[in-house]
Amino acid sequence: AKVLLTGGTGFIASHVLDCLLRHGCEVVVTVRSEEKGERVMQSLDEKVAALVTTAVVANIAQDGAFDEVLKSTPFDYVVHTASPYQLRFDDPVKDCLDPAIKGTTGILRSIHAHAPTVKRVVITSSSAAILCPPDHPDVYDESFWSSVTWEDAMDPAKAYVASKKFSEQAAWAFVEDNATTFSLATINNSYTFGPLQRSLASLDDINTSNKRIYDLARGAMRDGIEPTAPVFTFVDVRDVALAHVRAMSVPEAGGKRFYVVSGFFTNHRICGLLRRHFREVYDNLPPLSDELGNDDFPIVHWGFDNSRSKDVLGIRYMNLEQSIVDTVKSILALKKAT
Ligand code: NDP
Repeated sequence: AKVLLTGGTGFIASHVLDCLLRHGCEVVVTVRSEEKGERVMQSLDEKVAALVTTAVVANIAQDGAFDEVLKSTPFDYVVHTASPYQLRFDDPVKDCLDPAIKGTTGILRSIHAHAPTVKRVVITSSSAAILCPPDHPDVYDESFWSSVTWEDAMDPAKAYVASKKFSEQAAWAFVEDNATTFSLATINNSYTFGPLQRSLASLDDINTSNKRIYDLARGAMRDGIEPTAPVFTFVDVRDVALAHVRAMSVPEAGGKRFYVVSGFFTNHRICGLLRRHFREVYDNLPPLSDELGNDDFPIVHWGFDNSRSKDVLGIRYMNLEQSIVDTVKSILALKKAT
């Protein structure tokens, strides 16, 4: 099968690419510049590199940004992961909401207009589009939508959550309103840990969700562990990648959201895993008393129902220990190499 994958330099996209290649797919990866495309190509194993080409899409918010690449060759599937993910944005509209929402509606419009061979589009949404703090239900599943409003979206600290909700809603509205020949599935993955993308040039550019592990390992929390809130659930990126590939190819996945989540974590628990497994970062860790005495896991907390992802996509979730150990190994390897 031939797949268009957006945001190829990204943490999650790099694992989706690996997973697609393991499944024998040919992949066109979009990146923001030629130079970034070269980094992605160089990160690939020689045996599979022939299956990959890159295409430059400098800004997904631009009208018709994906027209050229979609017209260039017939695709069977599209996986859209590209979207800004930071904790704060200087300009919520320009830096976050526009690329997220216009990027999503733009790619769907281009597929609808120019790519009649595409059978399924998978979009990386987020658990952010599901969770509705502070009014948590007992158990979350795919029927929930974030309660974040347009007004909230203008707050630089809430723009990201809003961008995920409104872009996902725009995607579902597009397929409903346009009698598309493709079906849509969304992956609503939780906070995601796992090995860094091989194309990453420097730890200064580490992706947002892995940064807290890096911060713990390099001593940025030596004087005290930062609060874990607001998210206490995680998933490993390799499970997220497989979920994307299965959501693309499993017929029954069409028209569905998938809440992709493995279990609970706190910064304190991550700290404990670092202490147990990595002697080389021991001196950077916060005092043991902080780790043991102040675990901020909420006594009253929500549960999650990930049965749809297990039943329809066949995901068997990796646990926190495996995910953290593999993440730290990849952080230490990049540190050594740079
Ligand atoms: P990364 O920051 O590693 O990847 C984001 C990707 O999007 C990069 O390739 C980036 O390109 C690209 N991108 C951002 N803005 C633009 C733009 N305006 N034009 C073109 N490309 C753009 O983050 P993740 O891999 O973590 O995120 C990927 C997706 O997963 C996002 O949709 C995110 O919301 C979602 N997600 C992530 C979670 C997590 O915990 N990591 C949890 C749930 C969902 P460049 O590298 O050139 O900047």
